[in-house]
Amino acid sequence: AKRIVIKVGTSTLTHSNGKLNLQAIDQLCYTLSGLVNEGKEVVLVSSGAIGVGLGILGLQSRPVAIPEQQAVASVGQTQLMTVYQQRFSVYGQKIGQILLTHDVVDYPISRQNALNTFENLLQLNVIPIVNENDAIAVDELDHHTKFGDNDQLSAIVAKAIGADLLIMLSDIDGFYDKNPRKFDDASLIDRVTEIDDATFKLAGGRGTKFGTGGMITKLKAAEIMLETKKAMVLANGENPSIIFKLLDGTNLGTLFM
Ligand code: ADP
Repeated sequence: AKRIVIKVGTSTLTHSNGKLNLQAIDQLCYTLSGLVNEGKEVVLVSSGAIGVGLGILGLQSRPVAIPEQQAVASVGQTQLMTVYQQRFSVYGQKIGQILLTHDVVDYPISRQNALNTFENLLQLNVIPIVNENDAIAVDELDHHTKFGDNDQLSAIVAKAIGADLLIMLSDIDGFYDKNPRKFDDASLIDRVTEIDDATFKLAGGRGTKFGTGGMITKLKAAEIMLETKKAMVLANGENPSIIFKLLDGTNLGTLFM
């Protein structure tokens, strides 16, 4: 794979108390910088803004009111980018921020503008770091939209920029035949070639209080990739350097292809 989109979930980026997992972030930055040095084009879709914002503001859980959630996201997003900037710069890696709203799906001109930005950043060996523009896109936080969440957003971005592969890092080793947090006898499915209603029946909701989509949105993302005959891998992001192994062809996590 030459052009790769990597999506990291809140559960990978933050500890259960909401504080940033700096070790995981550092390893992620080290790994992605390494890929760029190998000549790959890398796009990072990063969740975590709300989790980080909650921590900074000393809040225990997501506020119910949307404007308050957006305020939390606003605080968290800038802190998140500050940390990425710091860690990536250690590895000599440049980054750019792209905050998207559905306009890029709904309006061809917005879409083309966004695509031009991606192409230019990639040409300059910059890693674009993408998130939904929470302050403007209300629905993301409400789970009612076209993007819905960063899982689907990452697949939409991967499809739009013609990425060969979407790597989704979560707090779980892959896709299981039932929710492994609830069932001890759940077993890992290492390859999924098509997604139908039966596949969705195996998926449960989010695992942690800071996680968002759970497995359903990850399957929807995989559906988008499969439609365009592109691959998605779901793997555990506890040690983000797992990406090197995945790209070496080591059988880890679940391959959707
Ligand atoms: P992230 O923050 O990485 O996006 P989520 O909490 O949104 O993580 O989604 C991952 C969670 O989905 C897992 O921790 C698990 O609890 C839950 N889950 C539900 N059904 C399944 C399944 N069939 N296989 C794996 N995980 C599942």
